[in-house]
Amino acid sequence: MTVEVVKNYINGKWVESKAKETRDVFNPATGELIAKTPMSTKEETLEAIAAGKAAFDRWRATPVFTRVRHLNRIRDAFEENFEDLSKILTLEQGKAIDESRGEYRRTIENLEVATSIPSLQMGYNTEDIAAGIDEMVIKQPIGVFFCVAPFNFPGMVPTWFWPFAIGVGNTYIVKPSEQVPLSQVKQFEIIHEIGLPRGVLNMVHGGPEAVNALLESPDTIGMSFVGSSPIGKLLYKKAGEQGKRAQVQGGAKNFLTVMPDADLERTVPALITSFYGCAGQRCLAGGVLLAVGDIYEPLKKAVVEAAKKYSVGSGLEEGVQMGPLASKKGMEIVLGYIEKGLKEGAELLLDGRGVEVPGYPGGYFVGPTIFDKVSPEMTIAREEIFGPVIPIIQVKNLDEAIDIIHANPYGNASSVFTSSGKIAREYQYRVKAGNIGINIGVVAPMATFPFSGMNDSFLGDLHGQGQDAVDFFTENKVVITRWF
Ligand code: NAD
Repeated sequence: MTVEVVKNYINGKWVESKAKETRDVFNPATGELIAKTPMSTKEETLEAIAAGKAAFDRWRATPVFTRVRHLNRIRDAFEENFEDLSKILTLEQGKAIDESRGEYRRTIENLEVATSIPSLQMGYNTEDIAAGIDEMVIKQPIGVFFCVAPFNFPGMVPTWFWPFAIGVGNTYIVKPSEQVPLSQVKQFEIIHEIGLPRGVLNMVHGGPEAVNALLESPDTIGMSFVGSSPIGKLLYKKAGEQGKRAQVQGGAKNFLTVMPDADLERTVPALITSFYGCAGQRCLAGGVLLAVGDIYEPLKKAVVEAAKKYSVGSGLEEGVQMGPLASKKGMEIVLGYIEKGLKEGAELLLDGRGVEVPGYPGGYFVGPTIFDKVSPEMTIAREEIFGPVIPIIQVKNLDEAIDIIHANPYGNASSVFTSSGKIAREYQYRVKAGNIGINIGVVAPMATFPFSGMNDSFLGDLHGQGQDAVDFFTENKVVITRWF
């Protein structure tokens, strides 16, 4: 069977890549080859940049209400194609179909928030800053921006950025993850049908060659990167050397702390979805469970019981709670971490290795896994596993929990489960993580809020989404006026 090499989208047209190198795309539930991604060349990427540059002046001069009307139409079209988009996402990424629907709800919410750009802060004005002198700030679009996206949320992540970027008048290039190009292809097919002006939004598939061309071109202004921290740091440095704006959302190891006064019945389901949602492949997934004091034994028992009931299967089957890992390589990495946990002395309470899913012998499945007797120095307690594994550490008190959290280089999210307002307040005050959950397991900021992150989980200052996005994609121009 021949499979399609997906096309780039440049200057309002579908363009076949001439790249010799391609990357195979597999359905993670079956292991079947479903597409190929071209590793686009520097020249092809420069064509996309040129298209964005050529479109900028006209798009910038397009009234803001006209610009957001385009976003509104894209929003409506995504809504009309909601089921198709969700199915394609599961087909290439593996996550359960309800999780794909959840991802598309968030995708659409980003478009909805970006359509409110006319009423977001686009400048400010002070009269009589000195006698008879007025001063104002105008926020102006700057040019061509781009994003480099990860494999775990192939539908949503680019919409943290481009609706805001083009809403304020820039032009844009999306570089999807080469592992999961099909969701973006479908989105661009929909956008193509709607007819956005040529060159405003472009897409180039590929890897380092395309990304380097985007970073090195004097005609791009800034980059939004979402992916692993080592690659993020590398690209942040390159962006700095090129004098570009950059925001880098990196990896994570999120600590979930359960206090002795937590409401166990309601806490356990939140923990389970935090660790096992999207098969653990979320930057906001639970990474370590810190059980404080007496809660340890009853918590452990309840978590194991709930995990055993969590259903694993093909994401396309309704009702399945957890799909496969997104790639064979991802599965092997997770299995490697489980081996390492055992080697370093942790004990398996639940072993997800070798889980069998009838009808899907070639799928990349790992079942719910739980480790007990974990200590903070162990690899599984320190590194991002990106799979359905719960390492449990027993701690004496909140201070010890916070010390463990602060010894970790990441700082994406952290949650506390408690019925004490005082403890909750102390947690949000002290813990160095960008997104804090109080009795919430997955701290995913809605589209009106910045998608935060600290330490190795975020480099830059302005975040994705909301007002931060408007500020990242605009330049402040100060105008001081006196009339004689
Ligand atoms: P990755 O770093 O391997 O790849 C991300 C992107 O970078 C891809 O588009 C890839 O093509 C590109 N890339 C990879 N190597 C490159 C290189 N040498 N030069 C230029 N470009 C390169 O990340 P991934 O495996 O796709 O995604 C998983 C990671 O993303 C996890 O660590 C996860 O925590 C993180 N993530 C973070 C957030 C967040 O908001 N902080 C959200 C989602 C995912």
